[in-house]
Amino acid sequence: MNKFVSIVGARPQFIKAAMISNKIQNVDGIEEIMVHTGQHFDANMSDIFFNQLDISRPEIHHHIHGGNHGEMTGRMLVEIEKTLIEHKPDGVLVYGDTNSTLAGALASSKLHIPIAHVESGLRSFDIHMPEEVNRIVTDRLSDILLCPTDISIHNLECEGFKNLSKRVVKVGDVMQDAALFFASRAVAPAGFKLDPGFILSTVHRAENTDDPERLTSIISALNDIHQTVSPVVLPLHPRTHNAIKKLGLELKVHLIEPVGYLEMIWLLNNCGLVLTDSGGVQKEAFFFGKACVTLRDQTEWVELVNLGVNDIVGADCKKIIESVNHNFGRVVHDTNELYGGGRTSQNIVNELMKWSYE
Ligand code: UDP
Repeated sequence: MNKFVSIVGARPQFIKAAMISNKIQNVDGIEEIMVHTGQHFDANMSDIFFNQLDISRPEIHHHIHGGNHGEMTGRMLVEIEKTLIEHKPDGVLVYGDTNSTLAGALASSKLHIPIAHVESGLRSFDIHMPEEVNRIVTDRLSDILLCPTDISIHNLECEGFKNLSKRVVKVGDVMQDAALFFASRAVAPAGFKLDPGFILSTVHRAENTDDPERLTSIISALNDIHQTVSPVVLPLHPRTHNAIKKLGLELKVHLIEPVGYLEMIWLLNNCGLVLTDSGGVQKEAFFFGKACVTLRDQTEWVELVNLGVNDIVGADCKKIIESVNHNFGRVVHDTNELYGGGRTSQNIVNELMKWSYE
């Protein structure tokens, strides 16, 4: 029997793993052992996703969170290495670009265990982003690079992957599978009373939360938009909550606790615009037919910018307000199945099966 260890730790990884893990369970001859590093640990950042998305509980939980990047990644490396030595998998599956992804890839690579990377080849070309470092190193160590888009394939080609003995394959974006699969189960957050047409916002990238000037400017823009355009609904990420508190800033919008995925897709479906610095939420805006204003200086999802449905505005208060006024209420269409049309998890399972029989 072929045995895989899959490594998750952060909110978007639980959503991606839900689609793949649930499919793998129906495949004879492949055994998956799920490891949760503990990177996200609040009930509404972790448990809720396992409950809502019918994912089996991770067999192994390392409960590692907090600390600086080096400390967190180092502690994960130590524990994941022990797990891999004990369970001797034939392969390891890692997702996205977090410290859990990097630690999983490093531990596997040192033990000569082949790695498959879901969401391979994405680049922001900003090496100061912790996620960019994690992606570059993970891709370089991986054996099967499961790319979501043509641009991600192109990025790997530019980095010389054509000359390496690795399998680089476009499979699509598993987040679209999740959006399509769970759309019919979407549910309003408990007690939510606003009419459709609100603006849905999320802010959590370190480049915004850890830079007082950027965070202050974004908050001024959000407060203004809430008054002048439409109510802004913002599920507040714990990191942003702490940063705002530390700086004594006042966020005068409709704040809610982080929500589960089913509530989040309800909000996406009912909003009039998305305003975010999240990677995943930029695409989910598109899946639910909404324009997106992105609070970053660049994006990995360049095809949405090229299509004119994602406006990259950074943290400039004036630019944010102008873009929101321009894009609010726009309806956008996915005509070319840019992200695989919901077949990505099956494509990935097919790749894993080929791999396991090679
Ligand atoms: N998300 C959620 N609840 C929230 C905020 C986000 O379920 O309160 C989901 C969102 O729909 C997306 C994923 O979490 O599927 C994105 O995670 P996040 O923005 O934390 O990470 P990123 O995509 O930027 O890595």
